[in-house]
Amino acid sequence: MLVTGANGYVASWLVKRLLEAGCDVRATVRDPGDPAKTAHLLAAVRACPGTLTLFRADLLDPRGFRRAMADCALVFHTASPLIVREAVDPVRDLIEPATRGTRHVLEAASRTPSVRRVVLTSSIVAVYGDAADLAEIEEDRFDESHWNRSSGEHHQPYSYSKTLAERLAWKIAGDQDRWDLVVVNPGLVLGPGLSPHTRAEGVLIMRDLGNGYYRFGAPELELAVVDVRDVAEGHLRAGLIPEAGGRHILVSETLGLIEIAEILRARFGGGFPFPRRIVSKPVAYMLAPRRGIPQAVAKRNIGYPLRFDNRRARESLGMEFRPAAESVTSHFRQLLDDGLVLRAAAGA
Ligand code: NAP
Repeated sequence: MLVTGANGYVASWLVKRLLEAGCDVRATVRDPGDPAKTAHLLAAVRACPGTLTLFRADLLDPRGFRRAMADCALVFHTASPLIVREAVDPVRDLIEPATRGTRHVLEAASRTPSVRRVVLTSSIVAVYGDAADLAEIEEDRFDESHWNRSSGEHHQPYSYSKTLAERLAWKIAGDQDRWDLVVVNPGLVLGPGLSPHTRAEGVLIMRDLGNGYYRFGAPELELAVVDVRDVAEGHLRAGLIPEAGGRHILVSETLGLIEIAEILRARFGGGFPFPRRIVSKPVAYMLAPRRGIPQAVAKRNIGYPLRFDNRRARESLGMEFRPAAESVTSHFRQLLDDGLVLRAAAGA
């Protein structure tokens, strides 16, 4: 089987699980010779019964994926640029690599006779664009029937890139009938990473909470949390359960920033500058751009409830999600141990 973007936060856990199960894993990374990106994967294979072969592949170039996919029955396509805030050039940095990469990987699957299934890592941001969109649907929560219709190149371009990539994946899958497509749509992924560095949004949020950016108050913002280990499990089940098909929202629970702060204060003590109150909307709108969040995005997300139906993942994939508090505390603990959050005088 093949995993693209194997060194990433999510994929590293998936690769580890596959190696533990004794699988022969072919894995693409941008630079197999860069120990900063591969050392944790090579350490995992030493401790596991499976085997690992690394291949060089860039989303913008189809050749690496064709080579890596030879003889694989199952492909996990996780690689995609993850720049939620401040993409310099959204088309070049997000939309082109996400969509061209999906085309390259899925067209390689169509040209590789052994492939029977592709599991695509999409996102809940392909399901909705802004929390305010919830008021525009009939249901009280988003489910797999919903699609993001409000993002674009200039408004939530990361969400747009994931939406375009998933739509393209369904189109390419529909043009043939040898392999089937199973999609997972994770929420905000939290929990301990195996890879040493990640720009994942979850890390930025936890660092801001721990380092005091919100010490005078946090915006009324809800986040749909899922644990990175559950996301890996969801991929595994999407790949291995024969009847699996369609989209699967992977979300454990929705928590407000203030609720996350309360969980962290209860676990790590009052020595950290976690926020204790919600700031007014005008203040939140004013401060958002300092964190790379445009005011237009802040206005359509702050103060709106965000709800997801995770029934399909529970029923079709048999998922049982860890409580979000466990993901929050284990993630913060790791950032603390790695020195990415400043250690408080007491309580840690
Ligand atoms: P990550 O650690 O940044 O992993 C992203 C992976 O994509 C990395 O391996 C990265 O390689 C690779 N990649 C990016 N641009 C590439 C390119 N041009 N060519 C080849 N590889 C490229 O983030 P992650 O959280 O694990 O994300 C994995 C997947 O989950 C993505 O599809 C993301 O959209 C999705 N997802 C993530 C979250 C979340 O909260 N983290 C939520 C929902 C969905 P480099 O290390 O070389 O850059």
